[in-house]
Amino acid sequence: MNRQKSFENNNQTLFLVPTPIGNLSEMTPRAIEVLNSVDIIACEDTRNSGQLLKYFNIKKKLIAYENFNEVNSCKGIIKLLEEGNNVALISDAGYPLINDPGQRVVSEAVDKGFNVVSISGCNAMLNGLVASGLIVQPFIFIGFLPSGNTDCLKKLEEYKKYPMTMVFYEAPHRIKRMMENCLQVLGDRKCCIARELTKLHEEYIRGTISEVIEVLDDIKGEMVVIVEGNNEIDTVSDDDIITKVNELVSINVSKKDAIKRVAKELNINKNYVYDLVNKVSNND
Ligand code: SAM
Repeated sequence: MNRQKSFENNNQTLFLVPTPIGNLSEMTPRAIEVLNSVDIIACEDTRNSGQLLKYFNIKKKLIAYENFNEVNSCKGIIKLLEEGNNVALISDAGYPLINDPGQRVVSEAVDKGFNVVSISGCNAMLNGLVASGLIVQPFIFIGFLPSGNTDCLKKLEEYKKYPMTMVFYEAPHRIKRMMENCLQVLGDRKCCIARELTKLHEEYIRGTISEVIEVLDDIKGEMVVIVEGNNEIDTVSDDDIITKVNELVSINVSKKDAIKRVAKELNINKNYVYDLVNKVSNND
């Protein structure tokens, strides 16, 4: 167990600081204060973050936390914490760790007993979700689907039965294909594409997947895709269950196996099917 009273100990702290996803006015005073207070800022891209710091007149040493070299980047930050520094982790936009680098260093910092403190702020997934018009809870954040078509379809098959609203990230050059894959596997559900959030050309495209696909040919910018969960509740009646068992028995499957197979297929309790079938037999 690990209990962290963030501001009641002298441990070094790794701060997770979100940065704007477009509109720079969304940088909070607390985020600026924390960035000014730490010893070092670790970021994805020093050029990108250098500009952000310049805009807010924050003069701090920047080091790169590289996803493709996460082991070494993580070791470097842990060493800085061990040497007595407080460190802030930022990404190019939004929260670090959310489809951005940082997972390893957070896990290790927690394991080693350093404070890990997150600061509130911007995140594209939540912006898109809450204004989508779809049911927001429960939801699942998936991020990017695999870029290969076969893998993408396979993943969607996995998600097909999920009853919760799904939130994806996607790049403009892949969005049409992705939505066509969604239509093929998930059916024509309600969805929303939230594009260029917080920026001048912000747009929400709400409709069914097939309606939305119609306008995706020249779509540009950054986007979040929100898709309705599976709301088709399987309503299998007792009569349907008995019919299925009888069908199997009529092709020489034993009653025991038929009950097992039907229970598995419909994802219901085997004893329930057994009792149902026996009740009918006893009444015959
Ligand atoms: N860490 C970020 C966050 O907390 O949202 C996400 C980083 S991920 C590498 C970048 C993806 O986030 C983009 O491809 C897009 O899907 C989504 N995104 C980022 N900014 C966005 C914006 N302003 N509008 C819509 N989607 C955005």
